[in-house]
Amino acid sequence: MLITDCHIHIQPYEMFKAGPIEVMKKARGHFEDILEYCRSPKALLKYLDSVGVERAVLINYVAPEVMGLTTEVNQWVAKYCKEDPKRLISCGSVHPRHSANVKADMDEIVRLGIRLIKIHPPHQLLYANDYTNGVKELATIYRTAEANGVPVMIHTGTSIFPHARNKYGDPIFLDDVAVDFPKLKILMAHGGRPIWMPTAFFLLRRHRNVHLDVSGIPPKLLLKYFPRLEEIAGKTLFGTDWPSPGIPDIKQNLDQFKALPLPQAVQEQVLSKTALGIWPK
Ligand SMILES: [Zn+2]
Repeated sequence: MLITDCHIHIQPYEMFKAGPIEVMKKARGHFEDILEYCRSPKALLKYLDSVGVERAVLINYVAPEVMGLTTEVNQWVAKYCKEDPKRLISCGSVHPRHSANVKADMDEIVRLGIRLIKIHPPHQLLYANDYTNGVKELATIYRTAEANGVPVMIHTGTSIFPHARNKYGDPIFLDDVAVDFPKLKILMAHGGRPIWMPTAFFLLRRHRNVHLDVSGIPPKLLLKYFPRLEEIAGKTLFGTDWPSPGIPDIKQNLDQFKALPLPQAVQEQVLSKTALGIWPK
């Protein structure tokens, strides 16, 4: 089975502000290992081999105020994934308030071959549907992604990083996006964890174009959070959020997921098939 982890944070940590980097260091031992993976795609691929993961999506996004991350992340991730584009899937972003020309920056993302766009409302300090409040640039991002067949991942749920604003984490704001951009593939990261799961589940059933990325949810608790997961297995993707605080190792999450009382076909769908549908081999 070809397993894809649709959500790992391999990114240029040297761009991080002091606050977020402290959170990362405090949350885990051996942070130097992570820095080495960020320097060397070969080292990361070796790690992925060791945990039985074939492909990983490298989540990168522009969030200067909270995280320190600038538009340079796009070039960075595109270059990094060139090492093995079959196994390393790039994710980049454009921030409506930090781009002089959103359309040109989105076209550049497409030209770079970036395969996922990330919107992180609590770190980018915006609502996912802010185009309904006059932020036209956000509609340009969704429209360009939709036209080019590039999926968009939107963070939902809380964040513990300093200065993150959690009001933006409510998944209900994805409802507008799903309605207004019906052909856009929307990946809802974290399923509103840990306070908005009923909203998340409603949207997943309501909208054909909304998918669930289970990263950041401890696999042991997944069926407590989403007791009817089997009903949405066809649109659910396995992801870990490694190496974020609380996720020391991909293998641990994978083992816990495999131990869940789910039929083999459902396991295979979530670990492998949904991601293959979104990013074919
Ligand atoms: Zn994440």
